[in-house]
Formats: sequence, C-alpha cells, structure tokens
Amino acid sequence: MSLADTLASLLEREDRLVFGELTLSRDPHGVFSARHRVDAEPTTSLEPIDSVAALREIAKYDSAGAFRPLKTAPGLRSGWCTETPCPREFLRRLDAIYPGLFATWVAYDRDALAPVPLRGTLGRQTGMYRFAGTITDEMAHRLQAELCAPGCLRRITWPIDANNGGHARVEASADEIPLLCTEACTFAVTRARELAKEAYDQANSAGTPQG
Ligand code: SF4
Repeated sequence: MSLADTLASLLEREDRLVFGELTLSRDPHGVFSARHRVDAEPTTSLEPIDSVAALREIAKYDSAGAFRPLKTAPGLRSGWCTETPCPREFLRRLDAIYPGLFATWVAYDRDALAPVPLRGTLGRQTGMYRFAGTITDEMAHRLQAELCAPGCLRRITWPIDANNGGHARVEASADEIPLLCTEACTFAVTRARELAKEAYDQANSAGTPQG
C-alpha cells in the first residue's frame, strides 16, 4: 500500500486526527483538510491555501514573523486551511508542514525503521562536533529535558546508547498520528557539544591555580 493510500485508510470519511499542531479531517465527500488545531472549529473563517509552496512558507515563519529553523517546534501559524480530494496531494501538503514525518510514522509503526542511538549519531560527527560524543548520560538526559521537551513536538524514540533499552515504544492513540524523532537532529548535536565543552572547561578551570 502506498503512503498516500495508508493516509487515506487512517483518515476515513468524517474522521479527525491530530498530527502535531494540525487537525486533519475528511468530510463525507472524501475531501481531506488540514488546519491548525486552534482553528479546529468549523465556524472559524480561514484563509484557503491550495499549494505546497504556500504551505512551505507558512511552516517557515511563526505568527510574529520569526524564522522557524526546527519545523517541529511549537508555534506553527494558524488562520489557514488546506483542502484537496486527492490523498497524494494531501500527503505532499502535510510534508510541506512536517517534512517526511508521516512516512517516518508509517515505517516505525511497521517495524521498518530502527531508531538510531544518540551515541551512534554523536559518534559519526566530524571536526569540531566530534567533541559532542564525550557527553555523559546525565548530560544526554539534560539535553532531552532542556532542548527537546520544551522546544519540539516530536516524541523521542532513540535510546542514549544501544545497550540501554531507551524509550518505550510509541503507540498511536486512535485519534493521533505521532510526530516521531528517530535520530537526534543537528540542534541536539550542537547542544551536546556545548554541554561537553562546558564540562571540559569547568574541569580544566577547576585545576588551574588562581593567581
Ligand atoms: S533531537 Fe529530535 S526531539 Fe530533540 S529537538 Fe531534535 S528533532 Fe526534536
């Protein structure tokens, strides 16, 4: 079954699903629609958006006009709606907001995608980012608590290392398509490097004689 067919089978007529900050729905005629969750009520008057390019622009900036470097950070602009009867086109439009994340969920749900342990990701870094691999488990937990939890809607599936069982398997509830994180992103790698460097600097300054 193609991804678009899978999407259509998950979102049957008159169904609603949550996908990140979006509400996805399908009317009795089979037309798919997506809008921000705060605009879920049908009485709201919304700007119709009917192109992938326009949706990419919506995903780029928050309501205050600030660039959104991480597409799964909370803060997606509201006030618009996109509709199409074609499941393939609908999937393209969802990918404009959350690139590749429907496919990630389907692959994970079919056991066809193994999360990459954080230490595997950090171990592949080169140049100045190699240092990120020296973080302790405690720093890795701090990274998740300080960067991922408040700043990203994805649910982490990767373990810190291959030998520690990691996170419980994510199961979707009946009204949701989860946004998953199956490998730490560049923001997490950057933060890991910062934490490692802070610890290194502290350890070295602690041993420096005061003059
Ligand atoms: S590592 Fe994953 S959960 Fe954390 S900020 Fe990056 S994409 Fe989001």
